[in-house]
Amino acid sequence: MTTFLRPGDAGYDAARSVWNAMIDRRPAVIAQCTSTADVAEAVKYGRTEGLEIAVRCGGHNIAGLAVPEGGLMIDLTPMNAVQVDPEQKLAWVQGGALLGELDKAAQVHGLATTAGNVSHTGVGGLTLGGGMGWLARQYGMACDNVVSYEVVTADGTVLTASADENADLFWGLRGGGGNFGIVTQFEFRLHQVGTRALSVELTFPRSAGFHVLRGWRDLNATAPREATFTANVTPDAVIVGYVWVGEGGYQLLPALRALGPVVDESIEETTYLKLQTRDDSLQGHRFRRYWKGHLFKSLPDEAIHALLGTPGARASLQAYGGAIADVPDEDAAFSQRDTLFEFVTSARWEDPAEDEAKIAGLRAYAATLAPYANGAYVNTLNGDSIRRAFPPAKLDRLIALKTAYDPENVFHLNQNIRPDQMPTDNAA
Ligand SMILES: Cc1cc2nc3c(=O)[nH]c(=O)nc-3n(C[C@H](O)[C@H](O)[C@H](O)COP(=O)(O)OP(=O)(O)OC[C@H]3O[C@@H](n4cnc5c(N)ncnc54)[C@H](O)[C@@H]3O)c2cc1C
Repeated sequence: MTTFLRPGDAGYDAARSVWNAMIDRRPAVIAQCTSTADVAEAVKYGRTEGLEIAVRCGGHNIAGLAVPEGGLMIDLTPMNAVQVDPEQKLAWVQGGALLGELDKAAQVHGLATTAGNVSHTGVGGLTLGGGMGWLARQYGMACDNVVSYEVVTADGTVLTASADENADLFWGLRGGGGNFGIVTQFEFRLHQVGTRALSVELTFPRSAGFHVLRGWRDLNATAPREATFTANVTPDAVIVGYVWVGEGGYQLLPALRALGPVVDESIEETTYLKLQTRDDSLQGHRFRRYWKGHLFKSLPDEAIHALLGTPGARASLQAYGGAIADVPDEDAAFSQRDTLFEFVTSARWEDPAEDEAKIAGLRAYAATLAPYANGAYVNTLNGDSIRRAFPPAKLDRLIALKTAYDPENVFHLNQNIRPDQMPTDNAA
């Protein structure tokens, strides 16, 4: 049964807090739903009352899109159950579950599916935008592993979307974000990945960065799918390495060590579950946050110069490729499958007085990389146009789908695809 929270109620402030501490909005009502029927009722209630509707799963959208000022927050967090069938290798995951809940339930059987790198991120927002993770090069994005969705649409109807049922909606939900309805259950395909993983990070002086990043880029081109290459540019150093899911994974180490003068090494054999929670504290709540992202189809030498060209700047790169690129682009809303690396520059701080300078610094640095970018990942958009995430033909199809399923744009607090708009008018 739904619990309704209003300003002043116990639990109201906790329920409206999200990952980015810069977000301090006050919904008129928070509907904490416990079932699909609750969600359908909440949508109808919000529309009858004329309230702006937002949907909350893990609360990790950087811009706090889950929290409407003065509106209705449909809070899915009580709906976090995960059921696994190890025989069929399937998982049924409620729309408010966190990644850690899915990982834990599946790993009991040595199973997993692609999920993100921080366990307190929501399955909902991550999967609806695509869902990148350490298993994506082996098994595709999280959305590529969804067999079916249970969805509450803008008029409160409950639908199933799968390859055989409402196939148009199924297409759009695989990467089109929260535009088409509220997903109350995801059915995921699982894979027998075992429980082991290896994490490799080699630190080089920043002065050797150009040579190291070039070599790392070239090694990535032939890396097996078990390996996901990573790089971090920090004010003093360049850290390159990879995450390997499965047994073994040491064969890439000598070539990486030969890239330059290694000043530090972190080589950790770990469990898949520990890997999936490794960055949980670093990425913890309570900090003010900002990021900018790009997708690169290639990483020419000039782009490497630009990565290293801003003193004090920080960047992270994560490799795409493998199974992500096996899926034909037209098969799902998720786009830019030919991405080579995803770039993010981000910062966290605590003093609001630093907001302006931090944000300006990140924007300026990201702008120096923009000439090499082909777009951006929909889940990393932060004030960017939606057209950075979808090429024009995809956006046309998404607009038509949005017009069919949510003509009044009830679900607009997301990376919004506006109905009945020409793509050229659809700038966010
Ligand atoms: C610390 C951190 C680590 C991250 N790591 C990764 C990563 O490894 N890989 C990756 O791909 N992304 C990653 N991201 C980006 C992440 O995918 C997005 O921030 C995503 O929006 C988070 O989803 P959420 O459910 O936690 O967020 P929320 O803020 O709760 O939701 C975001 C939006 O998603 C929609 N939504 C959420 N759930 C539902 C639902 N059940 N039905 C309908 N709409 C819904 C709503 O429109 C909502 O506004 C990371 C983000 C953070 C902050």
